[in-house]
Amino acid sequence: MRSFFFLRWPVADMFRLTSDPIVPTHRSDDQAGAFVTFKGRVRSRNGGRTVLRLEYEAYAEMALTEGNAMVGEAIERFGLVDAEIVHRIGLLEVGDTAVWVEVAAPHRREAFAAAEWLVDQLKWRVPIWKREIYAEGDSGWIGADAPPGGGKFEVEFGRRMTCLHEVGEAGARLLGEARVLIVGVGGLAVGALPALVGAGIGTIGLVDPDEVETSNLHRQTLFAAADVGRGKVERAAAFATRLRPGMRVETFPHALEATNADALIRAYDWIVDGTDSFAAKRLLNAVCRRHRKPLVTASVHRWEGQIMTVMPDGPCLACLFPQSPPEGCVGTCAEEGVYGGLVGLVGSLQATEVVKGILGMSILDREVLLVDLRTSDVTRLARTSRPDCEGCRGELPGSDDPLEVSRLEQAASRFGAYRVVDIREVGERPALAVPHLHIPMSRFDPPSGPMVLVCAHGVRSLVLAAELASLGIPAVSLRGGVSAHPELADAGPG
Ligand SMILES: [Zn+2]
Repeated sequence: MRSFFFLRWPVADMFRLTSDPIVPTHRSDDQAGAFVTFKGRVRSRNGGRTVLRLEYEAYAEMALTEGNAMVGEAIERFGLVDAEIVHRIGLLEVGDTAVWVEVAAPHRREAFAAAEWLVDQLKWRVPIWKREIYAEGDSGWIGADAPPGGGKFEVEFGRRMTCLHEVGEAGARLLGEARVLIVGVGGLAVGALPALVGAGIGTIGLVDPDEVETSNLHRQTLFAAADVGRGKVERAAAFATRLRPGMRVETFPHALEATNADALIRAYDWIVDGTDSFAAKRLLNAVCRRHRKPLVTASVHRWEGQIMTVMPDGPCLACLFPQSPPEGCVGTCAEEGVYGGLVGLVGSLQATEVVKGILGMSILDREVLLVDLRTSDVTRLARTSRPDCEGCRGELPGSDDPLEVSRLEQAASRFGAYRVVDIREVGERPALAVPHLHIPMSRFDPPSGPMVLVCAHGVRSLVLAAELASLGIPAVSLRGGVSAHPELADAGPG
């Protein structure tokens, strides 16, 4: 792969230094659907001073080597079709272009992300110095942007944490060596991530297939409006490494599924559940037990949240909730609404469980903590292990689950003839592309005969299936709902 790129774009062409004005040469390649160009210009004011000119000096040999390595890395990392950087050196006038970056990628997301990554890396890695010349003197030679991170930064960054007598130097080392996986980069993760980065966790993995949506922003406050349409894991990783450049962030832009969960979870020490689907939580619970990994799970609903830590030998999530979701966490944020500040609070509590667990302090391993921000009530309830719990054995109540099917064909083999019933409320999209009845859950009246219930994420449908089953009515829920089954969705507008 590497040699393929290098054959097409010789090393010397990807990063160039020039003392002449930069003449942009725009890429053109039929494989690329998105071209992003960054132009850095000499501005006339900086820090309240009037800048007359600017001078750049490079340690050319090293700058070319590092610059080309950096562009090559961006091509691999973001799957780019092409990329180029030109950096001016020598004396520049106000308005001159100092840096020109252009990337060509199959899609806009990679193109934006790669351009931003390259500009940051350029500032940090490539030995180029600048001198601003003012009317009254100059700035002296300064690294274009001294790379943050490094020993002194790390020490200062961690000082207030290390001062805690429960932490100390030994605790800080344990935190620095820890690998923490956050599954689902939504509201909970947005609360947990800054706290974990701040605590000095050395490596954080992020799993989420989604892009940032406008409706996420009110509670997922580490994303900005400008991030809408961009990958959540990539934007969250950018947030983390901006806060603490020396840390390691591993990103997985995929959904957690039975097929990849084992490999992902095995590679980490602690798992934080940031998902909002009960099916994903059960999968995490089973797989974490299987690999003896501690899991900090939580859920939020309107103004209420709950959090608990499942340790390898303690009671598990399925001990507490063997079947359907409990009262108070039956909906997802999309369906039920959620107070923005709640997710940050609960996510921060999850991070605290991880930190305290690593430090050997007491955690919620045999209790569940309930918070209700409407009333400011905080309650702790004891949890105990349930004999014969499938979750404790690391088993996933999967295809045998009497209330769920993961594909419509399973319903056919279970029931013979059946009907698909969309129980989402009026206006929820996308519409189903298969023959179905539409009976919103809010005014559900069961039709005759066996049925497969479908909602957005398979949470409401599971609750309803459990309710119908208790009345002796044959019904199952489609696991994951429409969002997990794009093949059932109408590709039309919306
Ligand atoms: Zn259990």
